[in-house]
Amino acid sequence: MKKIAILGSTGSIGTQALEVIRKLANDFTVTALAAGNNCEILVEQIKEFKPEYVSVKSDKNTEILRKLFPNLKIFTNGIVDIAKEIDYDLILICVTGISGLFPTIEAIKRGKTIALANKETLVSAGDIVMPMLKEYGAQIIPVDSEHSAIFQCSSDGKFVKNLIITASGGPFLHKTKEEIKNATKAQALAHPKWNMGSKITVDSATLMNKGLEVIEAHHLFQKDYENIKVVIHPQSIVHSAIEFDDGSVLAQMGLPSMHLPIQYALTYPKRIEGIKSNSFNIAQIGKLEFFEPDYEKFPSLLLAFEAGKIGGTAPAILNAANEEAVYAFLNDEIKLSDISCVTNKVLSKISIVASPSLEEILYADKKARFLAKEFIKELRLN
Ligand code: MN
Repeated sequence: MKKIAILGSTGSIGTQALEVIRKLANDFTVTALAAGNNCEILVEQIKEFKPEYVSVKSDKNTEILRKLFPNLKIFTNGIVDIAKEIDYDLILICVTGISGLFPTIEAIKRGKTIALANKETLVSAGDIVMPMLKEYGAQIIPVDSEHSAIFQCSSDGKFVKNLIITASGGPFLHKTKEEIKNATKAQALAHPKWNMGSKITVDSATLMNKGLEVIEAHHLFQKDYENIKVVIHPQSIVHSAIEFDDGSVLAQMGLPSMHLPIQYALTYPKRIEGIKSNSFNIAQIGKLEFFEPDYEKFPSLLLAFEAGKIGGTAPAILNAANEEAVYAFLNDEIKLSDISCVTNKVLSKISIVASPSLEEILYADKKARFLAKEFIKELRLN
């Protein structure tokens, strides 16, 4: 039995991971669950998966759980405590935001295996996290479908020349610049292929999600940005590919569902029959298309490449400014096209620290959020 801790168990990845575990109940036991404020779903998960430890964000929810489960060990705001103290073989980190970085670091220090679905960890602090993996003998197994695809094609990275990261193109692939500028929230949230949380869905509509994935891939697979290509692939069947020195290309295919990459991260290096086996029918899919992304229509993708190449604190600033702008868009404060404008402006206003410490990264993150909020305020007044 593999012991699993899940941080972010009530979110999109967390709930799908538990569906995988439900199917593989003989192989896995859940030792800890951490959720934010979604207490109702967490209560159901506790009843079914019977973890020893849980974490919730507020004191109020801690009280609710204490009454319902008197024998359960409960941490308030305890994602770091879980990563640091409790017994597990694998920890799935699928919380969103920079807060995912801290439990990841604690798990690394214990030499653990981490199934990572938190983007900010590598985007903001990849230069710190990657050397730590070697130092402590820990391992990150990517959960995101693109990185999982690359990981599945080549686990040792030998003779790999280029990474080819696919993007569905999102809901605005065939829309004009003007239509994108005035897109509504409902349009941005209607992703054609993937059902995800609202922040990442907006990032998919602007292609910032792909940009963040490029930065993650740079760290995870130690590739220069010149060797990372993004290609639009509306069918979302090829989840990414690698090109070797001799020009041979290996791609990983599957239906657009997160169950498979999640399951692979949990069962790696084994492959077992699970939730989505036998459902892939390539003849039924029929046609696969690929084309270059339009950087003019999707400036966020270009911004991410630029921030990645600059390095240092630039990706942390990019990520933080974008996140604030996305939340402002979701709050009907700014237009969709304002997101990249805010991010660009913040990036140009903050001086970049070249080889930052963790503290400097966190400071850059804070400063970027503060500045982004200022620019959002200005946009609201106009
Ligand atoms: Mn992805």
